Amino acid sequence: MVQHTLYPHLFQPLDLGFTTLKNRILMGSMHTGLEGSDPEQRKRLAAFYAERAKGGVGMIITGGTYPSQIGAGHEIEGEVFTSEEQVPLHQLVTSAVKDADADCKMILQIMHPGNLAFNENSVAPSPIKSPINPFTPKALTENEIEAIIGDFVQCALLAKQAGYAGVEVIGSAGYLISTFLLEKTNKRDDQWGGSYENRMRFAIEIMSRIRQAVGDDFILIYRIATMELMEDGSSWDEVVTLGKAIEAAGVNLMSTHFTWHQASIPTISTRVPRAAFTQVTGRLRKELSIPLITSNRINSPEVAESVLAKGDADITSMGRTMLADPEFANKAYDGKADEINTCIACNQACMDHVFAAKQLTCLVNPRAGYETELNYEPVSHVKRIAVVGAGPAGLAFSVTAALRGHKVTLFEGSHEIGGHFNLAKRIPGKEEFNETIRYYQRQIELHNVELRLNEYVTADALSSGWDEVVIATGIKPRELTLPGIESSHVISYVDAINGTQPIGKTVAIIGAGGIGFDVAELVSHKGVSSSIDIDAFAKEWGIDFENHPRGGIAGVEPQITKADREVYLMQRKDTKLGKGLGQTTGWTHKLTLKKRDVNMLKGVSYQKIDEQGLHIEMDGSAQIIPADTIIVCAGQVSENALYEQLKDSGNVHLIGGADVAAEIDAKRAIDQASRLAAAL
Ligand code: NAP
Ligand code: SF4
Repeated sequence: MVQHTLYPHLFQPLDLGFTTLKNRILMGSMHTGLEGSDPEQRKRLAAFYAERAKGGVGMIITGGTYPSQIGAGHEIEGEVFTSEEQVPLHQLVTSAVKDADADCKMILQIMHPGNLAFNENSVAPSPIKSPINPFTPKALTENEIEAIIGDFVQCALLAKQAGYAGVEVIGSAGYLISTFLLEKTNKRDDQWGGSYENRMRFAIEIMSRIRQAVGDDFILIYRIATMELMEDGSSWDEVVTLGKAIEAAGVNLMSTHFTWHQASIPTISTRVPRAAFTQVTGRLRKELSIPLITSNRINSPEVAESVLAKGDADITSMGRTMLADPEFANKAYDGKADEINTCIACNQACMDHVFAAKQLTCLVNPRAGYETELNYEPVSHVKRIAVVGAGPAGLAFSVTAALRGHKVTLFEGSHEIGGHFNLAKRIPGKEEFNETIRYYQRQIELHNVELRLNEYVTADALSSGWDEVVIATGIKPRELTLPGIESSHVISYVDAINGTQPIGKTVAIIGAGGIGFDVAELVSHKGVSSSIDIDAFAKEWGIDFENHPRGGIAGVEPQITKADREVYLMQRKDTKLGKGLGQTTGWTHKLTLKKRDVNMLKGVSYQKIDEQGLHIEMDGSAQIIPADTIIVCAGQVSENALYEQLKDSGNVHLIGGADVAAEIDAKRAIDQASRLAAAL
């Protein structure tokens, strides 16, 4: 086999004895919202996975599947796979993947939620409630424990019957198996609790009995909790002891996991450095002899290759990366990494959707999960299309329409493409947004979009010569009418983020939406951005990668670095600040600002601005925030003057923030633009 020149480790096959993985690229488990008993929905799920298989990924793991009726989670969180009658549903997926690429291994993840099941039937080793679930679980009897082990085995057998190449059992994250392992969640005094040997018995019994039942020619993966990011998590010795015991139970691959869901340290969001946690896998890899899988914030072939090259793992798992671009592996193989649509770890359309019981998709790729309905077919009649505005909406429309074969001219008044993404990428922790701009830049070249920068196009120029006109002129910041608002120390968030105005020592931020939070992050930040520096990240969140104390963090004090500024973040509403932020990322923004002592004021009424600062009323009393800089982050209004002039001339379309400013939300903008481009 000839080595791949660019990514020799990534494209090296992995021989498991009875079968071979064609490369080291794994699409990790993600619940999609397309599981369940509806065959039509299942066909969409099959198309979703088949597209990734066709895109060159070596192995795919499904979302978590409950093996047992005892303490199963809610159907919207996953599905129960307990009977032969369900086999044909699963075969829709396995056969679609085989048809797409017979070499892609399709794996079923088996997951018992334990005390994370969101219902009153939840079960656990002991009746201890998870802090992130209102339901208190019932303690399992020994008979029920035996029954659940049998259910895991049965589920693995059903998976084999359904044509899966193997199963992954998740023993981490706070799900049932992991709660047996920790003293804090396992208070039993029978053979399933007490000593570590007893606490790990459940995991070992499950894995060894599955191996006995399924035979040797079936891939068996165990997802191990290497660090829970909780003070009372596992010690490193315990992790190694468990890893060795699981290996001895006949597992082929060990997948490493780095947190429990209840932990309050980010592990996958955009503020986490790329590949920050793979060193933990590398440490365990030295102790075991089976191949190890690593994950978390691996979003480019370069990063994946370097993780493998330095010996941190044998396989790289990328879940969201494959949502953003199903062709990731093929593009990397063909030396076209610059054409990859990179996952920016925003979580907005994937994890936030899953946690809101909505179908998952992807902010930068709205086709994810919609492969059967949103397709970019070649056009039979080529149109001349003018697009105004090169923000996310205008870019998504232009490259998609051009990809289909239309002749697209994209007008942009400024000197660069990207719109508000150019602001986002300047926020510490959001550097990844630059990747989307890079992706569109390359797509513009590839599909011959005529890009006209520094060109403010007029309604006259658009009124003839075009088959379609698309207005994506975006938004402008909302201006306030407060007395004193014209003072020189009042600046807009655009100037604050671009650094075109000085920012003083006491800063008042008017408006606490997504951008108010971003600006607070920026002005309270000091030093290197911890999202691009693993050591700084570890210090900021109190993780000791080197010594690996209990849970990875026990006894480690987070080190807070912050700018020498007093920052006030304010809103008029009387609700908690940050309520509208993304569910899976908002808490990290709030926690970071809290650690930096940013003052969060709600129920504020703004009175006036003068040389003393910002005058407000709060809780019925007048106060002065002695701000030397006041930054207005009070939302936006649509910039749609051009549309108003053109709207009656036919074939004019309005998309993105210019359409709905209240949601200048890239997810909505890119989705709307892509759907329009698919339809014209
Ligand atoms: P936003 O989320 O709509 O927030 C606007 C803020 O301004 C609110 O706090 C609002 O609170 C305040 N406000 C509105 N009208 C005001 C007025 N007349 N006077 C004073 N305050 C006023 O807008 P944004 O922060 O500009 O964010 C825009 C969009 O960008 C978001 O919807 C989001 O999609 C996206 N974004 C998201 C993130 C993220 O989630 N991480 C980050 C950046 C941007 P009160 O009305 O209570 O005062
Ligand atoms: Fe990545 Fe954001 Fe897409 Fe999720 S929505 S896959 S985090 S780019």
